[in-house]
Amino acid sequence: MYIDIKNIDFNYKNSKEKNIDNFSVGIKKGEIIAILGQSGSGKSTILRLISGLETPSLGYIKVDDRVLVDKDYFLQPEKRGVGMVFQDYALFPHMTVGQNIKFGLKNMQSKEKEIRVKEVLNLVELEGYEKRYPHELSGGQQQRIALARALAPQPSLLLMDEPFSNLDADLKSKIRKELKKIIDKSGITCIFVTHDKEDAINIAHRVILLEEGEIVKIGSPEDIL
Ligand code: ADP
Ligand code: MG
Repeated sequence: MYIDIKNIDFNYKNSKEKNIDNFSVGIKKGEIIAILGQSGSGKSTILRLISGLETPSLGYIKVDDRVLVDKDYFLQPEKRGVGMVFQDYALFPHMTVGQNIKFGLKNMQSKEKEIRVKEVLNLVELEGYEKRYPHELSGGQQQRIALARALAPQPSLLLMDEPFSNLDADLKSKIRKELKKIIDKSGITCIFVTHDKEDAINIAHRVILLEEGEIVKIGSPEDIL
């Protein structure tokens, strides 16, 4: 399996019970996985563990046979090749779209950076928006820029935390379709979390149902719902 997550246990320091209990999943390259669960079920915690913001007490995470974390190894978040889109998009408000996207591009000549910015803006169909500031964009456009920024360094895995939660209901279905198209086109492997089963049905190849930090079901959207 391209992504191999095995027997992950985790609890926050000040928490009595386990926040994540024996979480395991194998994910194929190019697969889109939804983690579906109620508020407090541990969805964001799973993403924090994969991106390296938290350390599991047990288990391991591998991407393409490379260990990100196990019982005696911890790879720093910035070296994991994991892209993240947060709930609130978290674009830097004082930076233009171009600067936002370039922010994650290290070890690149400035000319290469320009080219990459154009490529990802083309991918999200916002060519020519380099000079805009986040406040000059709609919610849906900001979200696509956040996605472009996450994809720019060519991560091996894309994580998205509740990517639709800030959108109006009528915008949501349009943005879902757009996002699905962009992710499929980029061929990236993706894990996103949501509390909305419509998101899972419309976007994911496979769904993980999470309750109180435990996987209760895993299967195709049809199997689960
Ligand atoms: P979700 O994203 O599904 O809403 P979270 O992963 O944020 O859930 O939280 C899972 C559980 O861990 C919840 O019970 C939450 O209260 C707890 N939790 C989250 N962050 C912290 C923290 N920094 N310290 C202690 N407990 C936390
Ligand atoms: Mg959350």
